[in-house]
Amino acid sequence: MYVGHFAIGMALKARYPDVPTPPILLGVVFLDILAGIFIVLGWNQVTPNLQALPYLYFDLTFIDWDHSLLAAIFWSIIWAVCFIKHKRVAIIAGIASFSHFLADWPMHNNDLALFPHSDYHLGMGLWNQFGIGSWVLEGIFSTVLLIYAFSLFRKRGIDLT
Ligand SMILES: [Zn+2]
Repeated sequence: MYVGHFAIGMALKARYPDVPTPPILLGVVFLDILAGIFIVLGWNQVTPNLQALPYLYFDLTFIDWDHSLLAAIFWSIIWAVCFIKHKRVAIIAGIASFSHFLADWPMHNNDLALFPHSDYHLGMGLWNQFGIGSWVLEGIFSTVLLIYAFSLFRKRGIDLT
């Protein structure tokens, strides 16, 4: 799920045009940037699995330091604090970052812990259930958000096409 995260970012940018783009568009993928770094550092663990759908081909065995609920809240606050000079920017940046977790929730295959090392995991498993079909869902979700964003921009006389 990348298109979906960026679509949320576009909708946020359209809704709050005065907020600079980087805090929003980097914010929506901040948790995944951290996940990549933490995999390299060996803090996260992923396991190859050719059956893992729809495109990862590995299981996210341990991603608790960036993709648990508590970690998502923590990192979203940290991301917001980066922009604390402008309170409004900080709040929208934090929302953008936390939106990542909320968007991952329905898709992920029960690999989102409540907190690091928690036995309880979230994730409604749409990836697993629908496989490639989950792309269609993400596409519909993204299209709706992008139509919303484009219509808001057009109302302000900005044509993005
Ligand atoms: Zn993610």
